[in-house]
Amino acid sequence: TMTYGPAPESTDEAIQFLESHKRKFKLFINGAWVAPSSKEYFDSINPSNKEKLAKISEANETDVNKAVAAAKKALPEWVKIGSHQRARYLYALARQIQKHSRLFAVLESMDNGKPIRETRDIDIPIVARHFYHHAGWAQLKDSELSDYKELGVIGQIIPWNFPLMMLAWKIAPAIAMGNTVVLKPAESTSLTALLFAEICEQIGLPNGVVNIITGHGKTGADIVNHKDVNKIAFTGSTEVGKLIRRATAGTGKKLSLELGGKSPFIVFDDADLDSVVEGIVDAIWFNQGQVCCAGSRLLVQESVAEKLYKKIRARMETLRIGNPLDKSIDIGAIVDKAQLNTITKMVKLGIDEGNTLNQPSWSCPKEGYYFPPTMFTDVSPSATIAQEEIFGPVLVAMTFRSHKEAVKLANNTRYGLACSIWTENINLALDIAPQIKAGVAWINCTNVFDAAAGFGGYRESGFGREGGKEGLMEYLKPKIEESFSDQPISQSKQKLKR
Ligand code: NAD
Repeated sequence: TMTYGPAPESTDEAIQFLESHKRKFKLFINGAWVAPSSKEYFDSINPSNKEKLAKISEANETDVNKAVAAAKKALPEWVKIGSHQRARYLYALARQIQKHSRLFAVLESMDNGKPIRETRDIDIPIVARHFYHHAGWAQLKDSELSDYKELGVIGQIIPWNFPLMMLAWKIAPAIAMGNTVVLKPAESTSLTALLFAEICEQIGLPNGVVNIITGHGKTGADIVNHKDVNKIAFTGSTEVGKLIRRATAGTGKKLSLELGGKSPFIVFDDADLDSVVEGIVDAIWFNQGQVCCAGSRLLVQESVAEKLYKKIRARMETLRIGNPLDKSIDIGAIVDKAQLNTITKMVKLGIDEGNTLNQPSWSCPKEGYYFPPTMFTDVSPSATIAQEEIFGPVLVAMTFRSHKEAVKLANNTRYGLACSIWTENINLALDIAPQIKAGVAWINCTNVFDAAAGFGGYRESGFGREGGKEGLMEYLKPKIEESFSDQPISQSKQKLKR
């Protein structure tokens, strides 16, 4: 791949990490590296050049049983040491992540294909911030949240688009509130989770508090179905989210789901169009558009639409695609071949449906899984590409005339994760924002995340919140529940008689 700026980020340290495990990773159970009982491994591929990075363990039910048993065994002592002591471990995790942030960033870019500028400046700093923030909450747990207690063993299943960030969003609040965890990363991006396991070892986190189990969907299902798991926290597709909801129905397991989206990006005629263009770059070309809250539906007021499209086309032309480790790259590789195929199919469908395709004149590097920034214009609100999540760098643009129509179009979706509103009129923005069914509303900005703010969706985007105090409550239950009798009436009657 051609490089644009200074030499690409060095991979030496990352390769050293891979080699230290002989490029064959075991499972992290009860503080130790354990070979999978299936003896089966699968490959982790660098999507920017199709190079094999390492072999990853395929965990089966026996391994999941071991991990859940370890988490269950670790629980009483983890609870007993109290919130101050737990906070010290979270601070130590945060500090170690900061210390190794370059290694984490490079490894994430190699495994996922996202630009190093993003992993270095966005993903990994947010991860560290998440652990610091929850270390603070861990410290306050016994005083400020003394009416609540931990849920127990938490099963966590995460996707590939923000591998370490999703791990942080799951693990930090769970262990801060005194729970123990079995986490499964996505099969295409396990490496930073495995490096995180090493960090847990380094700081001496008590055995069994965090267990990292790798594998495909079946491994996830085994975690979901385990009887000793008290809560499932899942981020991923709406399809799998529905399966998990069915599987946990009637079991008493708590559940939170962070699923897909088709978030509106609304531009009113008085918006600063040059800022809007940069906002769009952030909304849909950040992380190759593989972002659940991506601003994937551009709704623009008719009078400024053509002018905006022209600016977007010009900006597309200047975006740089290529080696994710190149520091001046804007767009990296798509996570894997399957996702690239999905995006390609959806774009073909968009063309077949009669929508107007806009792409830059340059072509993508050939050696990896790349897809160019894409915009469809003249899209009808009922078109498949306007309704279905594409999860790639594909923007669909539609126009509106009145404010009322903007709101109607924005809500014309089965999702409800985020929205972004662009106008120089703050009164208009504040009027529109609460009318849109979305977990988060951004005004004149987009894709802004913070550990202190709850994130999550409505409708088919899922339920439950991550981050903020709302996020903590997902990992707690009222202490009064301890006094509830778990026994059926007939048995408790017998007890009373005695
Ligand atoms: P996916 O749902 O197939 O996979 C997500 C995780 O679930 C992976 O770890 C996978 O191994 C596991 N899994 C698969 N089948 C399972 C089953 N039957 N039981 C338990 N676990 C199972 O999603 P994907 O295609 O890998 O990821 C892309 C999708 O995730 C997109 O559609 C996107 O909308 C969604 N996503 C949502 C968010 C969010 O925060 N809302 C974030 C990232 C991704």
